[in-house]
Amino acid sequence: MSLHTPGQPFPARWWHADGDGRLVCDVCPRACALADGEAGSCAVRVRDGNRIVLTTYGRGAGFCVDAVERRPLYHFLPGTPVLCLGTAGCNLTCRSCRVWRPETVARVSGLLEEASPRAAAGLATEWRCSSIAFTYNDPVVYAEYAIAVARAAHVEGLRTIAVTAGFLEPAVRRDFFGVMDAAVIELKVFDEEAHRRYAGGSLHTVLETLTHVAHRQGTWLEVSTVLLPGLNDDPGQLRAMSTWIRRELGPDVPLHFTAPVPASRRTGSHPGSGSLPIPPGDRVGPARAREIALEAGLRYVYASPADVVGGCTTWCPSCGAVLIERGSMIRRYRLTSEGRCPECRTAVPGLFGDRAGEAGAHRIPVRVP
Ligand code: SF4
Repeated sequence: MSLHTPGQPFPARWWHADGDGRLVCDVCPRACALADGEAGSCAVRVRDGNRIVLTTYGRGAGFCVDAVERRPLYHFLPGTPVLCLGTAGCNLTCRSCRVWRPETVARVSGLLEEASPRAAAGLATEWRCSSIAFTYNDPVVYAEYAIAVARAAHVEGLRTIAVTAGFLEPAVRRDFFGVMDAAVIELKVFDEEAHRRYAGGSLHTVLETLTHVAHRQGTWLEVSTVLLPGLNDDPGQLRAMSTWIRRELGPDVPLHFTAPVPASRRTGSHPGSGSLPIPPGDRVGPARAREIALEAGLRYVYASPADVVGGCTTWCPSCGAVLIERGSMIRRYRLTSEGRCPECRTAVPGLFGDRAGEAGAHRIPVRVP
């Protein structure tokens, strides 16, 4: 049950006083130490007297119904519609992203609508969604709200999905993923120094989160990497990353490679310049990245855009049969009701229904009543 009064700041859950008169936020390793009235780097956690408050609790933006594949999540109720929601602010500062920039935070803050946890779950049910996805901006910055919505979703019989960069402290990590049925964690660049320079946070923390979720019962994990020219598209780095995933997370964790957003739609400086000295001749696209990851022993590797031949198809790792063929929607779904290959009976890891869902090819904006 939510005890929050709409329109009021919500008392944050994870912080401590540092003994020097400042209050320190304990949500992520940035550990923002706040004087009264000051906001943290994410812009949405603010000191209010002798407490820290979350300014976006109970307020969401960008509500829409979309296919689960576009999170991207391929082994979790394929083809089903999910209710997507986000808020404002981010705790990382990725150079190719605009979500954390002050002008974006200001704009999105003006678009936020009141949405109690129960109202958000009700909206998902009304639109016949299977799950609620916390996405667009990193749900870590609004963890108290995401957890409350997730609990309300479970009461409604819905599942929950976190789309995150995984940059958070262990205590928050346990509570946050404890209510998530699936997670897509973005592994941005497999190099500590480059990760810090590009995203403003440590790779080490993200790897700890990946390991935690992969070995946690009850949360299905998929990993996503957007290939950014000069930053993370070096074959050696991709091989090392894939080998780490196979060794530490297991060969069955799906890995998605996607191409970056076209320059015409990107804001901010190009991530390639000055990030990693990967010469143009040594850079690879999603198709080659997929081959490298398969060579490293991962069993389910996906590559998009859709013009990568077979890049969005799930193949049986034992006999090579096509199991799920995807375009803008699910084209073919051949798994048995137990999630097995119909040819050789190999079990495919994930959560599968008797048949694919029928989410449409386009997302549908929806409003909270
Ligand atoms: S969640 Fe926000 S306020 Fe808290 S430590 Fe991270 S960036 Fe700072």
